[in-house]
Amino acid sequence: MTYFCVICGEELSQVDITAICTFCQQEKPALYLCPKGHFTCDDCQLADWPEVVKRVCEGSREKDPAKIANLIMKHPMSIMHSPQHHILIPAVVLSALRNTGIRPLNPGRLESAIERTKGIPLGVCGTRGECGAAIGAGTVVSILTGATFTKDRERSLALRASAEALMAIAEAGGPRCCKQSVYLTLEVVSHFLQRELNIPLSTAPQCDFYRRNPECKKERCKYYVS
Ligand SMILES: [Zn+2]
Ligand SMILES: [Zn+2]
Repeated sequence: MTYFCVICGEELSQVDITAICTFCQQEKPALYLCPKGHFTCDDCQLADWPEVVKRVCEGSREKDPAKIANLIMKHPMSIMHSPQHHILIPAVVLSALRNTGIRPLNPGRLESAIERTKGIPLGVCGTRGECGAAIGAGTVVSILTGATFTKDRERSLALRASAEALMAIAEAGGPRCCKQSVYLTLEVVSHFLQRELNIPLSTAPQCDFYRRNPECKKERCKYYVS
């Protein structure tokens, strides 16, 4: 039986060692290893969706939130276009902010961020003019400023962050691409945090999925590499 790496597609070799899991960064017993060092531990392989996001964000030392998102989206559980993407933005941004030393990630913060954004249904970009990724921009700003519905400036900033992300996604045109929406939103978040909250968080999204996406907009997408 031949197995292939979920990260890079190379053929896995049979081993009997411990290795660092690419998803959670924990050292675990490994029976198969990619020649490039990629390895998925049993717990990450068996994790369901919110758990995958949590495991990657907790273990990550990556400073670019787009790279954290790309790793999560390479998990075998990940579907090309799906509501799974709706919980990504706050989780990867909070993780990247911790990794750059800008903000600590307190216990329970990740879970509560995921809780805020889960439950946004499939396809709402088309059915009600909303996008789960874009709403994640408002969620991040709300968490960082402590916004609630009774606040003044903080509430406006959260609404504005979601609105800016929605505008970027609207201007990119359809059909929907959840990868593109995540990347566009991360760029909006990066500019927004710098401009409004003086928080530096750089990101340079690169699409690792266009070859596997039969609906890729190709030249109509800024993240497509021909
Ligand atoms: Zn690999
Ligand atoms: Zn793992």
